[in-house]
Amino acid sequence: MADGTKIEWTDATWNPITGCSVVSPGCTNCYAMKLAGTRLKHHPSREGLTRNSKAGPVWTGEVRFNPQWLDEPLRWKKPRMIFVCAHGDLFAEGVPDEWIDQIFAVMALAPQHTFQVLTKRPERMRDYLQEMARCFEHDSAEFSRRWGTAAAEVTGSPCAAGAIEDIPWPLPNVWLGTSAEDQDRYSSRWPYMEELQELGWLTWLSAEPLLGRILLRVTGLREVGPDARVHQSSLPQWVVAGGESGPNARPMHPYWPRQLRDQCADAGVPFHFKQWGAWGKPTKPRPSGTPGRFALAASPEGASEFWPAHVVEIGHWPRQIDLFGGATVLEHVGKKAAGRLLDGIEHNGFPGDPPMTPRSGSAHVKDFEAFVAETAPKLHWKIYQDLGADPSRSNGYYDGWQHGFGEASFGPLPLPQLIDEMKASVTAKVRALGDDRQ
Ligand code: SF4
Repeated sequence: MADGTKIEWTDATWNPITGCSVVSPGCTNCYAMKLAGTRLKHHPSREGLTRNSKAGPVWTGEVRFNPQWLDEPLRWKKPRMIFVCAHGDLFAEGVPDEWIDQIFAVMALAPQHTFQVLTKRPERMRDYLQEMARCFEHDSAEFSRRWGTAAAEVTGSPCAAGAIEDIPWPLPNVWLGTSAEDQDRYSSRWPYMEELQELGWLTWLSAEPLLGRILLRVTGLREVGPDARVHQSSLPQWVVAGGESGPNARPMHPYWPRQLRDQCADAGVPFHFKQWGAWGKPTKPRPSGTPGRFALAASPEGASEFWPAHVVEIGHWPRQIDLFGGATVLEHVGKKAAGRLLDGIEHNGFPGDPPMTPRSGSAHVKDFEAFVAETAPKLHWKIYQDLGADPSRSNGYYDGWQHGFGEASFGPLPLPQLIDEMKASVTAKVRALGDDRQ
């Protein structure tokens, strides 16, 4: 780790540009913004980039070029993955093309590294790279004026200007990513990425913080007018997903990363599950009404007009949880405790990795859902009876599922083992909550 980054999917961060402005709900708890307005407030790279508000520091929209860090990757000899502009957005409004030229020139001169560019402004990234492709292929004078001059300046060597004319296009060591937190943002941002993919770039998606479900195949009209045709988008070539961390983190429904994993497994797309974030499996069951930071996540089947939001924060261990059939309980346990296992598996996929077996994804979830739908109510009823409890007080839903243990604990287990685990968990739960239910 060149700079001690703890981000699981990279080795180092590189911040030749700092500063940004908020663009969508995924930005609300932006780590870079908070840092720029607190601990690094007086650092020359951050000073004046944020203003204080009731909700904490907020970007002013000013962006800053940090020339002292521009040539860092050229000095790092050991190959590494580098997250570009981790504390800003390379394509933010206010970033002039000249700065972007310099950053791309450095990336082109450092083929030993892999550069991970991530933006919430893919339309500008598309425009910029379309223009640079035109220059590279048809206007060598302009290409040399832009990237060539930048290369000579950053290295202090006129030879670099010549070297950059021999680079492969598109740059194989640059992965272009967009960040999307929910379906709306994905559907509006991915089409630009798809254009870049068609131009030969490796494109990827960061679904973090994941705030809603995302279906990766976007269907829409490709053209307007008489040539209009329905188009189904191509998929990202790499997907990273994760929940939000920090004190104000919003809970992530367990189905959201599962659905992404399953889509990736089915399509052979490498999948990286970064973290659950601050919200995870409850540390232990509590008596009904115990105060704390909990959230209820309705299963897609359990969603209804009375339960339209898929995940809702509540300030106590849910009372009368049977009313919320099919819901999972999450607790604000902190990032470390929540960990990064998804159904018992650490997903560390990167572009070029062998595809996941579908069994680790959709097949398992489908089996489990079918099993719960068919078997769990009977099992539940029987366990109540075995314990001498009154099963008519229950609505027949599976307790372990409702209390967050089903989804979190029953990973890729063979069915008989799954049933045993369910029995043990339900038994313990019913005993613990016996007083509540009688
Ligand atoms: S685009 Fe990225 S850097 Fe900018 S405010 Fe949003 S999360 Fe932060």
